[in-house]
Amino acid sequence: MGEKHLQIVLAARPVGEPSAADFRILESSLPAAGKGEMLLRTLVMSLDPYMRGRMNAAKSYAEPVAVGGVMEAGAVSEVVTSGVAGFAPGDTVIGMTGWQSHSLSDGTGVTKTDTGEWPLSTALGVLGMPGLTAYAGMRNIGRPKKGETVVVAAASGAVGSVVGQIARIEGCRAVGIAGNPEKCDFVTGELGFEACLDRSAEGFAEALAAACPAGIDVYFENVGGAVLRAVIGLLNRDARIPVCGTIAHYNDTAPPPGPDHLPLLMRNALVKRLTIRGFLVFDFADLQPEFAATMKQWLAEGRVKYREDVVEGLENAPQAFIGLLRGENFGKVIVRLAEPSRD
Ligand code: NDP
Repeated sequence: MGEKHLQIVLAARPVGEPSAADFRILESSLPAAGKGEMLLRTLVMSLDPYMRGRMNAAKSYAEPVAVGGVMEAGAVSEVVTSGVAGFAPGDTVIGMTGWQSHSLSDGTGVTKTDTGEWPLSTALGVLGMPGLTAYAGMRNIGRPKKGETVVVAAASGAVGSVVGQIARIEGCRAVGIAGNPEKCDFVTGELGFEACLDRSAEGFAEALAAACPAGIDVYFENVGGAVLRAVIGLLNRDARIPVCGTIAHYNDTAPPPGPDHLPLLMRNALVKRLTIRGFLVFDFADLQPEFAATMKQWLAEGRVKYREDVVEGLENAPQAFIGLLRGENFGKVIVRLAEPSRD
């Protein structure tokens, strides 16, 4: 008794960087499940860069969150009561249940978790959407070949950490880029990349060139901005660029100042016969079973490692999300709301 329904809604559309005032926390009594519905209690929730786009009014590949609407998120929940065939109290499920402590579901878009020996949170990270993003982008677009050089930024994060480790598994030279020396130490020491450059250090572009003596064959684009500018001149003939994200620009309110690098990029696209291809993870949903089996094996063999940045409590999600866009996270950002009631 006494359990409350907590929800975080979009209070205002941010201009530039989101602030705490753009979110509001609401408290109410628990919703009652109707016929054919189940009540879910959120255990762990994912924070992801795409959520910044949902806060804008402009329609992108998905509808925006309405002002006053619950922020969107994938989460792992426990079934509390169930009127849905195939789901029983105590089951853990994954679905887009949003920034809230509880939700109602008729079972649509919700599946049982299957993380095997790995914690439930991995369903949101290395064994979930970000892991599949890295796997699908590399397999279908990056297509790394033994001996090639693969570069990825946000290298200690959810997607980038997996991209570089796949590059290593494929026999490539993995070069990461991250926001500070501590992250870089983790990327080389723990994840096994050959090199990692601090994007905020003076001489970053020169250091990147030095770390890629044979040029770049795969640039897995996670960030855009200064990193992309440093990469353009290093691309080899027939290089592949899976365009996954451009987080350096998510808070932009106007085109970035300074020289326009688009002509240089297009010239290189022509002369170097580049493949530049954007993708959204759900384009490759059919790879999910293959990905899940392969990733579990890599984890079991210790060939892929992962790091999570766990934030306690739904009320701390807005600040953690603002920090994610600033690079304050160190690993996949997970918000923990509740413990499972049984193992
Ligand atoms: P991360 O866990 O890597 O966290 C985001 C990281 O981005 C920060 O920690 C920071 O790392 C880096 N970053 C922030 N600002 C900048 C900046 N100005 N310049 C360079 N780097 C910056 O997030 P994810 O792994 O979840 O996401 C990585 C990218 O993949 C994002 O662009 C995201 O939108 C995209 N994505 C795309 C998907 C798709 O379907 N196409 C699916 C999932 C993710 P650091 O400080 O270490 O540089």
